[in-house]
Amino acid sequence: MELMKFDTDRDYIVRGTAAGETVRAFAVRTTDTTAVARERHHTFPVITAALGRMLSAGAMMGAMMKGEKDKLTLLMKGDGPAGQITVTADSHGNVKGFVDNPSVTVPDKYPGKMDVGAAVGRGTLTVIMDLGLREPYNGQVEIQTGEIGDDLAYYFTVSEQTPSAVGVGVMVDTDSSVKHSGGFIIQMMPDAAEETIAAVESKISASEPVTTMMEKGMSPEDILQHFLGDLGLVINEKKPVRFHCDCSKERVAGALSTIQKSDLEEIIADGEEIEVKCHFCNTAYNFSIDELRDML
Ligand SMILES: [Zn+2]
Repeated sequence: MELMKFDTDRDYIVRGTAAGETVRAFAVRTTDTTAVARERHHTFPVITAALGRMLSAGAMMGAMMKGEKDKLTLLMKGDGPAGQITVTADSHGNVKGFVDNPSVTVPDKYPGKMDVGAAVGRGTLTVIMDLGLREPYNGQVEIQTGEIGDDLAYYFTVSEQTPSAVGVGVMVDTDSSVKHSGGFIIQMMPDAAEETIAAVESKISASEPVTTMMEKGMSPEDILQHFLGDLGLVINEKKPVRFHCDCSKERVAGALSTIQKSDLEEIIADGEEIEVKCHFCNTAYNFSIDELRDML
């Protein structure tokens, strides 16, 4: 199989297997994706970190889906000041997301370590996979720490019965820009041997955070090699990842036309054009009074 060449300065995802396909693994660089999210939503550092971690997880979980039109939604609904974090991804590396409250500050866990868990709080993590079946798959677990990686590992283990290690991280620079964003997911298939599981567990428990590895210049392939090199890692696929929203004025109009008729009449009576923003990418669409009348 011919692998495409990728510029390591761009976001991409790799998928691999190890130990005779009894382990499957994903790693992703989302530095640009998270930077776009920060720019679109004007997120404060701890929210940049929370949203970036969710975007990394979304990109990797999107890559687990096989169908052309499959769609993944992650909802992290905690009682912390961030509110709900929503991320959606497809199977082609397109991911997008937003957070209820982008302008949040919480005290650091310790100097230099942002407390994402405190920003998220406790509540539920919901995973929805629309795989083109009659009913979308829907799994829900309680948020364990709000650090996102832990919560997703718990979700995979409890809800999908797939023991998994999830590491997602964002390093925010002193000027609040995104220095590194990325992550990995390593999953044990049902036929994984005990010694394979033990070998992966000891690697993971001794490992540095993913952003530290990225700071050292490690690529997604290097990260998987670090964990699974001894177990015969095979990289099967590489594909680009990007923050991408497929919204349009027509789609936003569709959402607008579902509001109460009386509310729409009221807006028209006010006589001023309105601006409606896409939640996911913050793009503003303007609707004139004539356009609103057409909707009625
Ligand atoms: Zn949009």
